[in-house]
Amino acid sequence: MQNTPTTTLGYALFATRWLQAPLYFGLVAAQGVYVYKFFNELWALILRCVTGQATETYVMLAVLKLVDVVMIANLLIMVIVGGYETFVSRIGLQGHRDQPEWLSHVNSNVLKVKLATAIVGISSVHLLQMFVDVHHTSRHALLWGTVIHMAFIVSAAILAYMSGPMADHGGHAKHPAPREGETDPEHTPPSGTRRPQEVPTEPVPIPRQAGAPARESGAEARVQAAGFPSRKLLEDFDTGHPRDFDRETVARLGKLDFVADRRNAVLSGPPGTGKTHLAVGLGVRACQAGHRVLFATAAQWAARLAEAQAAGRLAEELAALDAYPLLIVDEVGYVPFDADASRLLFQLVAHRYERGSLLVTGDRPPARFGEVFAGPAGPALVDRLVHRAEIVRIEGDSYRMRRATSAWAD
Ligand code: ADP
Ligand code: MG
Repeated sequence: MQNTPTTTLGYALFATRWLQAPLYFGLVAAQGVYVYKFFNELWALILRCVTGQATETYVMLAVLKLVDVVMIANLLIMVIVGGYETFVSRIGLQGHRDQPEWLSHVNSNVLKVKLATAIVGISSVHLLQMFVDVHHTSRHALLWGTVIHMAFIVSAAILAYMSGPMADHGGHAKHPAPREGETDPEHTPPSGTRRPQEVPTEPVPIPRQAGAPARESGAEARVQAAGFPSRKLLEDFDTGHPRDFDRETVARLGKLDFVADRRNAVLSGPPGTGKTHLAVGLGVRACQAGHRVLFATAAQWAARLAEAQAAGRLAEELAALDAYPLLIVDEVGYVPFDADASRLLFQLVAHRYERGSLLVTGDRPPARFGEVFAGPAGPALVDRLVHRAEIVRIEGDSYRMRRATSAWAD
C-alpha cells in the first residue's frame, strides 16, 4: 500500500547514490599516490642528511613538505570517509575504537567546515615554507600567498558561521515556540542544567555519537530549548550498573536511527535505574545531531494537551509538535490517567505515528501501560506506541539507593 509509484521512483533515484561509491575508491588511489610521494620526499631528505648536504633551511623545508603531504592525505581521508558516510551509505563505525571523533556528527555542513579549516592548515604550511625560504621567494609570490591565505581564513570563518546558526534554522531561539499557537513546555529547564556530572563511577561508555557537543552553537540552543530536567549524557551512563538490559538496543538507539525513521522507543524499568538519564542522554544526542527535541513528563504532556483542547486548538498544537522530530514522554506509570487524559495522549501518539518519534519511559513494560491509561483509548494507545518501536527493559536496583547506601556505609 505504501509502495506508491512516487516512493518507488524516489527510492530508485536515491539508489543512484551508489554511483558515487567508485569515486571514493578513486580517492583512495589518490591517497596511495600521496603515500608514495611522502616516502619519496622522506627518502630524499634522509639521503641528503646522511651525505651531509642538508642545510638547516633545507631540512625545515623538507619536513614542512612532509607535513603538507600528510595534511593533504588527512583531507583526503576526511572526504573519503565523511563523504561516503554522508552521501552514500553508513559505514557503521559507532563503537569502533578508532572511530574518528568528527565522523559521528558529520553532515555536509560539518564536512565543508572541516575541509575549509584543513585547507587553511595546508595554506599556512605553504606560507611558512615561503617565509623559511624567503630569499628564494619573490615579493609578488609572498604577497599573493599571504592574501590567498587570508581569503581561505575568511571563507572558513564564514562557512563555520553559516553552519552554526543557519544549519539550525530557527533552533537559535532560547525557547521552542516554532509556530504560532505553540506553548512552552510546562516546566522550565532548571538552573542546574550545566552542572558537571555528579556520577561517581567510571562509566562504561555507550558508543559515542557526538564528539564535541558544546562546539555547535545550534545544538546548545536546542538542548536549552528542549526542557530537559538536568543534563545527562549517554556517555556517563554506567552500563555496568543495571543487572540486566539490552545494551545493543541502547547502543542502536544512540545512533538515532529511530528518530530518522520516525519510530518510537520505550524504556521501562524500576525507579532509579536510569531511564530518565538515558532518555535525556538520547535527547541531548538528538539535539547535537540537529533534531529539535521536547522533554516533559507524561502528566505534563497530558496537561499541555488538555490546555490546548480547552483553548480549541488541539489540532494546531499537535501540528506544531511536528516541528520536533523527537518528543520525550517521561514517567508513564506513576500517575494514572483518566479517560479524557488517556484520549488526549492517544491523540498525541496517533498523530505522531510515522510523523515523528516518541521516546517514552515507564515503570512497567508497555504491555502493562493499559493499567495506566483508563478508558477505551488505552489499548489503542499502546498498540500504536509499540508498533515498530524499540523496546528496552532495564532490570536492577536504584542507582540513587546505591549511592545513598554507599554514602551511609562510608
Ligand atoms: P529513573 O528515571 O529510571 O527513575 P534516573 O534516570 O532518574 O532513574 O536515575 C536516577 C539518578 O541516578 C540520576 O542522577 C542518574 O543520572 C543516575 N543513574 C541511574 N542509573 C545510572 C547509571 N547506570 N549510570 C550512571 N548514572 C545513573
Ligand atoms: Mg525518571
